[in-house]
Amino acid sequence: MKKFIGILVVVLIIAAVFYYGDFDQFVVNIVEQIKETSSEEENVYDETGDSDVAIVHYIDVGQGDAILIEIDDYHILIDAGDNAYGDDVVAYLNSIGVDDIEILIGTHPDADHIGGLDDVINSFDVELIIDSCHTHTTQTWNDYQEAIENEVLGGAVSLCDDFLNYEITENIVFEVFDVGDDFTDKNESSVISKLTVYNTVFLFTGDAEHEAESLILEYDINADIYKAGHHGSRSSSSTAFLQVVTPEMVIISAGLDNSYAHPHSEALNRINVYTEEIYGTWMNGSILISADRDGYSLVEEYYKVSSEEVIILGNLEDYIVPEVLTVTKGESAVLNMVGYPNTEYSIVVNLKSGPSSASGIVDKISESDGNVTWTWAVSSRSTAGTYDIIIEEIESKHKWYIEFNIE
Ligand SMILES: [Zn+2]
Repeated sequence: MKKFIGILVVVLIIAAVFYYGDFDQFVVNIVEQIKETSSEEENVYDETGDSDVAIVHYIDVGQGDAILIEIDDYHILIDAGDNAYGDDVVAYLNSIGVDDIEILIGTHPDADHIGGLDDVINSFDVELIIDSCHTHTTQTWNDYQEAIENEVLGGAVSLCDDFLNYEITENIVFEVFDVGDDFTDKNESSVISKLTVYNTVFLFTGDAEHEAESLILEYDINADIYKAGHHGSRSSSSTAFLQVVTPEMVIISAGLDNSYAHPHSEALNRINVYTEEIYGTWMNGSILISADRDGYSLVEEYYKVSSEEVIILGNLEDYIVPEVLTVTKGESAVLNMVGYPNTEYSIVVNLKSGPSSASGIVDKISESDGNVTWTWAVSSRSTAGTYDIIIEEIESKHKWYIEFNIE
């Protein structure tokens, strides 16, 4: 620009000599030209030396997801943790000066993703809402829908996920991939999105599992930074998917000692084939990564997740645990599972009146072949209905939830 002004001064002096008759008008024209030229220049970073910057905040919301993408004054929020974290996410956004949200995504209707979104939508102006359009029957989902409806009345646009592409700046693009709407599984319906900042790619898959992952393999999902699907569950981050993503860095959003024992070592082992740069929100709190034309970097130093720290006693894929146990009133319930050999398991049988204290519902150590069996009497006075049984592998803290039907 300086060079341009320098040349311009020379031109003005020469022009003054020839245009002395109508010099004022000539100056007006030239000033207009400068304005036009300089505003064009602002968009070309090579000439101004500026670089577009994006900061991706993996906000710590315990067992859940909340991700903010901050591009100067443009904000994209993907999920906001469960109900208990809504206020925290609002406070977080306020603390970094978010004034409004250009794009808000509810990846899927589970509470650990959309629970806090109603608070966010009620607190900020949102321009565009993208949802999986998979419905749910919970109050949490109703609150979220009501907040969306109000926001739409205020002028927001609400869309179901589809193939969408937003050029936020010349160098930053945000894309959404559609995996279809035929899934009965809420997780698989997750909105999948990708942020490209110059040559750095971030991939966000919500709680998408192996099936949804397999449906996006044909698209350009190669990414530098991958937010591990479904909090690092073994049901996500399949080998076929990772082969295409080839992540350099993986962020896992999960809560400390969560009841699902996320992240699972099977997923970590698959991820480890590609990278050891794995960071978890339960260890670090919120994790921030900034990206610009020079690449990307962690905003602070964070602790890495090492797979040794995730205690695992065996290959959980070899375990056999029933999903449903159905018993008739007045008869005995027999629950058998195959776990890891010589390992202690606890069991809780939740009934309408609370945890059952029937004899036989006690901690047990599996046989050398991994078999464990619990037998207890189901009273004829029990209330018929659907309850749950929770089995926990005590050392690894891994839990299984079994649907328990009394007929
Ligand atoms: Zn989740």
